[in-house]
Amino acid sequence: MSLLFKRRQQHGSRINGSFVINVEGESASSGGGRRTPSSSWGKLVLDLYPPGTSLRNLTCGYCHVEQPPRAKHCHDCDRCVLQFDHHCVWLGTCVGQKNHCKFWWYICEESALCIWTLIMYIDYLTNVAKPWWKNAIIILLLVVLVISMIFVLLLLLFHSYLILTNQSTYELVRRKRIPYMRNIPERVHPFSRGIKRNLHNVCCGNHTLDSLPTAFELEDRARPYTCLDMLKCRCC
Ligand SMILES: [Zn+2]
Ligand SMILES: [Zn+2]
Repeated sequence: MSLLFKRRQQHGSRINGSFVINVEGESASSGGGRRTPSSSWGKLVLDLYPPGTSLRNLTCGYCHVEQPPRAKHCHDCDRCVLQFDHHCVWLGTCVGQKNHCKFWWYICEESALCIWTLIMYIDYLTNVAKPWWKNAIIILLLVVLVISMIFVLLLLLFHSYLILTNQSTYELVRRKRIPYMRNIPERVHPFSRGIKRNLHNVCCGNHTLDSLPTAFELEDRARPYTCLDMLKCRCC
């Protein structure tokens, strides 16, 4: 039995072969108020969690709807967002399940625009004769442009990583505060189905609700890579 599994047993138990994660410190298997799902949505949400999870702990205190895994209430938009990534103050909306791909293309276009503008600036600076004060203004603008370009490129790299591993910014940053994530080792991406499928799901609009993986699936994903895994393209 691996160290990973032993450590996680301190925080949960097995029911019917599935690992039960304690939600907000309450043992799901203790029967601490497991409610009968009042709607088909509630039943659907409950099926995404390990058996024994209580719906009481999954209900948003603001919208009063049951949240599937990866959903979070956004206080700016005043609604629950599926696969919540972050609330973008520049766009004035949330980035979530259905627009993460569009957001990636947006920052990709921004990066291309920054690089193109930088090339034009350098070309103008070196090939066109002009007074010194014009050169000074161009260099000043160039510095601002380079700083913006570095920021946008890093953002692009970061979101590429998130998409390839099927994570969200919220899950990455607040991992320790999300009840069903806090006991999972950091190197394990619980919702990743391999690079190809992660890309396909995000780019081709295959939006499904992610269920929490079982302990066996988590153990399998935590397994170190071997040469055979590399040959078999296990990461894909
Ligand atoms: Zn809500
Ligand atoms: Zn929002």
